[in-house]
Amino acid sequence: MTHHNIPVFIPHYGCPFRCVFCDQKAITGQSRMTPEIAKKEIQDCLSTMGPGEEAEIAFFGGTFTGLPADLQTAYLDLAAEYVRDPEPDRARVTGIRMSTRPDFITGEVIRRLSRYPVSAVELGIQSLDDRVLDASGRGHSARRSLEAAGQLMEAGIPWVAQLMVGLPGSTPESEIQSAQTVCDQGASAARIYPVVVFAGTELAERMRDGEYTPLSEDEAVTRGASMLRIFRDRHVPVLRIGLCASEQLTDPASALGGPNHPALGDLIRSRLLYEEAEDAIRSSGIPEGDSSITLDVPWGTLSLCIGQNRRNLKDLKRKFALKHIYFRECGTETVTVSVQDSRTGNGGQPCT
Ligand code: SF4
Repeated sequence: MTHHNIPVFIPHYGCPFRCVFCDQKAITGQSRMTPEIAKKEIQDCLSTMGPGEEAEIAFFGGTFTGLPADLQTAYLDLAAEYVRDPEPDRARVTGIRMSTRPDFITGEVIRRLSRYPVSAVELGIQSLDDRVLDASGRGHSARRSLEAAGQLMEAGIPWVAQLMVGLPGSTPESEIQSAQTVCDQGASAARIYPVVVFAGTELAERMRDGEYTPLSEDEAVTRGASMLRIFRDRHVPVLRIGLCASEQLTDPASALGGPNHPALGDLIRSRLLYEEAEDAIRSSGIPEGDSSITLDVPWGTLSLCIGQNRRNLKDLKRKFALKHIYFRECGTETVTVSVQDSRTGNGGQPCT
């Protein structure tokens, strides 16, 4: 069954201030929201889906639990109606999710959310390194994020960790540590957002003044892949990597720096598969030169394994002096390798 999010963007609503990297108008393309607009957007979105589909209503782009209580209730009542009274011949709405800041999770908030069919709260954790949070002006500590996660767990509300790559002061090590800790704390899923510098943000000023250097695309891909590997190994689903493709993302007057490739998620997934293939080949002990190998790869990952412009394939062949690489999609969780003597591989698709 196809599952969708019906996004209701509440751009910066409820946010106590603008975080140094954030411009939700650029990210979401939305500048205004009311319950009336939300209702119309939900109806419009549902009208494009069939009865065999499922969806959640997702309040994204702001600090949902920082909204005035009556407005939170208005949005929750509106969304809950679709969950409780499904319309025949329409997609089934299974729950409500929202993104919010960890420091806006309180006992009162939890009590309110518990009265509604909330399927997940997405916490904008960004990093669990206090030095990074300070340098990014987030205004809360790593400890507060972990407390918020604990409060949600205690109430039985699944939570999703939103983490960033390349924040000011961040290192590959602190990003890996953040990913490991959110897994330890029971995140039900994660999102990974490498930092893009948008015009009009404080980060753009810091970049202009030489106080912040954004990651190159290659750096973001490598660091994103390290984070992705942790979630994959811990069986924590990654719901999204990188910002959604938008005009602002590819407009050089809007996205001033950082990895803004519209398919950044695929580049990162492809990089992880490359690294796995590299590890598998290295540990298989194949003799260098003139060998043919078959790589068994997880279902649906063939083109990612080969890489954009066949980059992974070319790099692997060059690095290990291989004659042929064959690929075979199968049920493996990671990439595994077998050495072939024949020129036809082992039933794999030749990718020489
Ligand atoms: S990162 Fe989150 S809390 Fe900060 S300004 Fe953006 S939406 Fe608001």
